[in-house]
Amino acid sequence: MIEVKSLKKSFGKLEVLKDINIDVAPQEVVCVIGPSGSGKSTLLRCMNRLEEPTAGEIFIEEDNLTDTKTNINQLRQRMGMVFQQFNLFPHKTVMENITMGPQRLKGKSKTEVKELGSQLLEKVGLVDKAKVYPDNLSGGQKQRVAIARALAMEPSIMLFDEPTSALDPEMVGEVLQVMKDLAEDGMTMVIVTHEMGFAKEVADRVIFMDEGFIVEEGSPAELFDNPQHERTKSFLSKVL
Ligand code: ATP
Ligand code: MG
Repeated sequence: MIEVKSLKKSFGKLEVLKDINIDVAPQEVVCVIGPSGSGKSTLLRCMNRLEEPTAGEIFIEEDNLTDTKTNINQLRQRMGMVFQQFNLFPHKTVMENITMGPQRLKGKSKTEVKELGSQLLEKVGLVDKAKVYPDNLSGGQKQRVAIARALAMEPSIMLFDEPTSALDPEMVGEVLQVMKDLAEDGMTMVIVTHEMGFAKEVADRVIFMDEGFIVEEGSPAELFDNPQHERTKSFLSKVL
């Protein structure tokens, strides 16, 4: 579904991703963990070419994302992305935030997108907030709207970059629950997260990154209960 081959990314002289190889299978949930500055966000941003890879290739469902001939905007529509910051449009209602994308980019009718919007609000538990403006939502609610907005484009892959890091602790659970539901629905997901409990419970595979390399990967049981590398052990001893 996603194939990352010998990916490298440098910013000037700083080599941030050194040789990354990842295969994500359809419906797989991959959690990426690792210390600050290890390249997790850069990896995710390369995956939808928000960052231009320095070398290597990325395939999304057989299409070469790194090929200059690829229509990147069309490809991006197949990948939803949710960031730490919600980036909702403040002057649009919750419903408008969700329906704008499919209406403008997919040419769907008003009735169609409203129906879709209602279904998505139901999914993220915010049916009663359709007409509310983002400023009047809690952080957890905003992030659930951001997820619904990404889903409105009907992506086949969802990328999350620390979606709960900016939230007050009491709101983390409601966002993780939405992500867990998505995983159960069979969505293919790559999730950068500090929530080790979530990774343990929901991930099919956990990737530990450090200094631009994948140091170790495996099932949550393998990685959390039986890490092989010193760097993994040392990181886990600080976060678990
Ligand atoms: P965190 O857990 O703090 O979010 P991360 O693993 O996501 O960290 P990245 O944001 O990918 O790390 O950053 C990896 C390295 O690349 C860091 O040293 C960072 O300073 C550098 N970096 C990231 N983006 C840029 C940029 N646009 N220009 C220059 N350097 C950058
Ligand atoms: Mg990051």
